[in-house]
Amino acid sequence: MKIICIGRNYIDHAKELNNPIPKEPVLFLKPETALLPPKNPFVYPSFSKDVHYEVEMVLKINRVGKHIEEKFAPKYYSEIGIGVDFTARDIQNQCKEKGLPWEKAKAFDGSAPTSKFMNINLFENINNLNFSLAVNGENKQKGNTKDMLFSFNQIIAYVSNYFTLKIGDLIFTGTPAGVGPIQINDTIVCFIEDKKLLSFNVK
Ligand code: ZN
Repeated sequence: MKIICIGRNYIDHAKELNNPIPKEPVLFLKPETALLPPKNPFVYPSFSKDVHYEVEMVLKINRVGKHIEEKFAPKYYSEIGIGVDFTARDIQNQCKEKGLPWEKAKAFDGSAPTSKFMNINLFENINNLNFSLAVNGENKQKGNTKDMLFSFNQIIAYVSNYFTLKIGDLIFTGTPAGVGPIQINDTIVCFIEDKKLLSFNVK
């Protein structure tokens, strides 16, 4: 399986990092080793001194597809979850300055913790969902899917022009404003609406 991530999909977050508002989705990938096994802590990587959380809604692909039209995109996912796109911001800034790829900053081991996945029918409208992240019980980042620059269906259509989507692939759909650093011993908890779906410690 692969993990496809969308960058700069919320205008307020693009602005907080002084990035331009994209005209088409910004894509990058994480390998399967970026998943964090359930009940495992997130291990702070030794190569960074500035790891940031980015809370994101995550789609799980349920059938194989390529060149998917936007109107058919809803057939390709039935479950949604929440995840953290951990980013070594210091390394990412170095990569950006040099015009290099972001993988060292974004795709390292454990950099993509995800919750269990829930059927989208359990939610009234997945295009108007509140989601948030708390560190040590304090709410740090929140967003609503209605503020996405590119919708879930537009993302699937766009991504499938480049990558064949396979069953079990995950798509991280971008982070709202409010990203910030974590420290060793922090507890991270993520919510969709009031449901606590993901919780782990930083070691
Ligand atoms: Zn992200």
